[in-house]
Amino acid sequence: MGIFKQLACPFCTLDDARIILTNDHAIAIYDGFPISPGHRLIIPKRHVASFFEATREEQAALLNLLAEMRERLKSLPTSLSEREENDSPQPPFDKAGSLSVPDGFNIGINDGTAAGQTVMHLHIHLIPRYTDDTCEPRGGIRWIFPDMDISGLS
Ligand SMILES: [Zn+2]
Repeated sequence: MGIFKQLACPFCTLDDARIILTNDHAIAIYDGFPISPGHRLIIPKRHVASFFEATREEQAALLNLLAEMRERLKSLPTSLSEREENDSPQPPFDKAGSLSVPDGFNIGINDGTAAGQTVMHLHIHLIPRYTDDTCEPRGGIRWIFPDMDISGLS
């Protein structure tokens, strides 16, 4: 990552084993603390904190890699335990045996400290979702505020 590398940044000093896909300006990696099987991060090669500070070219590269990573997750073997063995250095999840290809995705960016960003190197979360992986999926990322009433959602 050349002159843009920041030694204190975990995404500028990544272990190559975490890198799954790359293109001109972005890389896709395994999330270190996955919240669902297949959780991935799409990050720019350049050290930049905000999506809105990234160039249009970098934003396009990030979105292209996001789509490519989704395709890959959708096309992997249907046995999740098999998938995690092939695709991740992390151990399979407890519920892995009953899951297969993702049925949906949450896509999210924590942009700024107030929004919960802790690593100040832009990263897009790609979080696979599986039918019945939670008893109430309605609302998705609206659950950032778990106490907010979402009963009016359509
Ligand atoms: Zn960085």
